[in-house]
Amino acid sequence: MAEKTETHEFKTEVKQLLNLIVNSLYSNKEIFLRELISNASDAIDKLRFKAQTEEGLQEDDTEFEIKIERDAIKNTLTVEDNGIGMTYDEVLDNIGTIAKSGTNGFLQAMEQLNKDDTITPELIGQFGVGFYSSFIVAEKVTLLTKAAGQEKAVRWESHGDGEFTITEAQKETRGTVISLELKKKQEGDQDFTDEWTIRQIVKQHSDFVAYPIVMEVEKDEPIPEAEQLKDKDGKPIGETTRKVIKEETLNSMKAIWSRNKKDVSDQDYEEFYRHIGHDWNPPLEKLHLKLEGTTEYTALLYIPSQAPFDLFNPESKHGVQLYCKRVFIMDDCQELMPEYFRFVKGVVDAPDLNLNVSREILQQDLLVRNIRRNLVKKLFDLLNGLEQEPYEKFWQEFGAVLKVGVHTDIENKNKIADLLRYKTTKSDGQWKSLQQYVKDMPPDQKEIYYITGENLSALINSPLLEQLKSKDFEVLLMTDPIDEWVTQALTEFDGKKLKSAEKGDLDLDKVDEDKKGKYETLFKHIRVKLEDTIKEVRPSTRLTDSVACLSGNNYDMSGYMEKILKSAGQATPENKRVLELNMTHPVMDKINGMFEADKKDPKLDDYIHLLLDLAVIGEGGKLDDPAKFSKLVGDLMAGI
Ligand code: ADP
Ligand code: MG
Repeated sequence: MAEKTETHEFKTEVKQLLNLIVNSLYSNKEIFLRELISNASDAIDKLRFKAQTEEGLQEDDTEFEIKIERDAIKNTLTVEDNGIGMTYDEVLDNIGTIAKSGTNGFLQAMEQLNKDDTITPELIGQFGVGFYSSFIVAEKVTLLTKAAGQEKAVRWESHGDGEFTITEAQKETRGTVISLELKKKQEGDQDFTDEWTIRQIVKQHSDFVAYPIVMEVEKDEPIPEAEQLKDKDGKPIGETTRKVIKEETLNSMKAIWSRNKKDVSDQDYEEFYRHIGHDWNPPLEKLHLKLEGTTEYTALLYIPSQAPFDLFNPESKHGVQLYCKRVFIMDDCQELMPEYFRFVKGVVDAPDLNLNVSREILQQDLLVRNIRRNLVKKLFDLLNGLEQEPYEKFWQEFGAVLKVGVHTDIENKNKIADLLRYKTTKSDGQWKSLQQYVKDMPPDQKEIYYITGENLSALINSPLLEQLKSKDFEVLLMTDPIDEWVTQALTEFDGKKLKSAEKGDLDLDKVDEDKKGKYETLFKHIRVKLEDTIKEVRPSTRLTDSVACLSGNNYDMSGYMEKILKSAGQATPENKRVLELNMTHPVMDKINGMFEADKKDPKLDDYIHLLLDLAVIGEGGKLDDPAKFSKLVGDLMAGI
């Protein structure tokens, strides 16, 4: 059968990406090798995982390895693995298109960077644009691959210039060979066909890879006695050693989690983190545990010092890998970590685990559930034990993720509540824990007050807080969308109720009953006029200086929540607000006077709408008719 050769264009995003990578990564060329090795190692992992459930896939060979070959004369470098390989369609899908969200995330992140920012290796690793990094050093890349269990192989070729060809091909064994025709070396460039250059790169970037990375190297070998040239006295003349070519394993493969803590240096810990975390920044904290007994496991977990770009991408991977006696079982083991710890990276090795586990089984596995409970507890202990400075750093990066747990993990709700930090009306821009808040409460304050909204400075200055401030009561300022869910789940802390400053009666002072009576008919009139948006008009318990604000009843949705749902495109139930008016404000007297003189006065109508507009502006909201507002205020200022 004639082999079909097809030429394809790279998708536009890939072209952009190739340009970016090739043109920006000049100072870090060597990372291409790390990427190819990591793909090879992934491919072997995948094969082993699949072979657990599919008989015959792994054939007879069990010697997994990643092989590097160099040819200084031809100026080529190849990386070969005996992993899972790819079918024709898989090559088309995986190489040449950007099917993965991670790569898209990379492009988005690029757009956010300044023009002068260089693309750093950690970015490349984080977003998995790995394969394309070969074009940093190669003029031409050829990928020959045969998928496990398939007859036919596939050859993919490209100069990285916008096109690639793909054709059916022959290959004896399962796996993938990637051959690079290297670019001509410029002054000062590394030589990627040089033994010591490759050794050093592998050692630095790929030492913990779990499979041997082998390469033929030149060695001095003693010449056996019998073959040596000797003089008549039996003394050797000439060389006693000779150069031979031997295959050598370049990486240590040391699974440092299985060693004793005292035998692992800080540097080892950090290097290992880089390897599994694809993160060049040192981690913020690490947790190395060995548990024995009924739930036996070893874990080495890290908390990164910086959140990845795709932290909030629902498809972004969890970072915990599962091993069984140093044999890799799976990546991204979500069963071991709750969602709110999804930024934690590391390795869990459980010797009693069944190697043939599938994700479905894992969820019910008692051992896995116990390990998870245990790890969560240890992580809480670790976070609780942190000093203020590192903890705040952590909170800044990952607080918004951790908060999700208040809502989703009822069992640990209170533990997470202890870890919450908020800025407050009195904290002067600093973070404050709920514990500290309660400690600082004046004796006549009974509840914990909070307010939710998008913008910190709008919240601090919100008219809704005037009365609370005049009482010297502190208010938590909650600016994360997730806080809306936090306050739904966390109704109490340390025996004190959490109370929204925006909802219900604040019960701070007795309302002046005389005044209330005086304004009753006016308030009714205003309610009718504004009935499209307002469900009630009420004398305010919140305001001291401003004339109007919007609030809600205890079980109403907050203004911020409504905004969040709307911007997520969700239908919101009708949520009319309450208009609160400040009976001590002189404007109210004036309006009441107009009302008593002539209910039909068009100016009275204008004033009523202005009251609503003022309340909306006070909470940083948008006016329905800003032009009209501006005209009315202009007229008022001119005394018209
Ligand atoms: P990532 O490794 O983050 O997925 P890459 O660009 O490095 O991104 O690789 C893209 C995809 O190509 C991989 O996800 C994998 O499906 C496929 N691939 C790359 N190299 C190999 C290989 N040596 N063996 C099998 N599949 C591979
Ligand atoms: Mg990769």
